[in-house]
Amino acid sequence: MQSVNVNGLIFDEYLPEQEIATVVSDVAGRINADYAGREPLFICVLNGAFMYMSDLFKRITLPAEITFVRMKSYEGTATTGNVNMLVPLQTSVKDRDVIIVEDIVDTGLTMHGFIQHLKREGARSVELTSFLFKPDSLQFPDATPKYIGKSIPTKFVLGYGLDYDEKGRNLSSLYVLRQ
Ligand code: 5GP
Repeated sequence: MQSVNVNGLIFDEYLPEQEIATVVSDVAGRINADYAGREPLFICVLNGAFMYMSDLFKRITLPAEITFVRMKSYEGTATTGNVNMLVPLQTSVKDRDVIIVEDIVDTGLTMHGFIQHLKREGARSVELTSFLFKPDSLQFPDATPKYIGKSIPTKFVLGYGLDYDEKGRNLSSLYVLRQ
């Protein structure tokens, strides 16, 4: 099994590049089918989702658009759905069919806030796709992604856009922290 050392921690390969490609193709196929006849707006949540977004978007056959956002959610205000946009939305979501693209949903805190924000901004529909989902960590059920690449146990992963202290995002496979 291939391993990497990132910032002094050892990570073992968990999902090789070829399997990731299959996972992403499956999600794209479902979205293409479900959104036939529509023109969805994809919102990529930076930084972690950039690689998933890129691979997914290449397989989308719809007349889709893309925009980007970077945010931080705060424990204290999360229940009211407030999120702090480090890079705010540049595109109006009013009356749009929005598909949020995330790297990983853990507790769901970030997406819980963002979904509420998009609804307040007048989106016609809001769905979520996440490359990874940790069902055992979820605390906000409305943040359950409709389009899940892969559900994983509550373990720390990196690679394919996900970082450990900003390192490891460039790895093309997904790795899990060795216990
Ligand atoms: P949530 O708001 O769902 O608790 O957290 C989502 C964010 O936490 C993700 O966008 C990601 O930045 C970070 N995160 C959660 N789990 C992991 C993990 O296993 N690895 C990495 N690298 N980031 C994670």
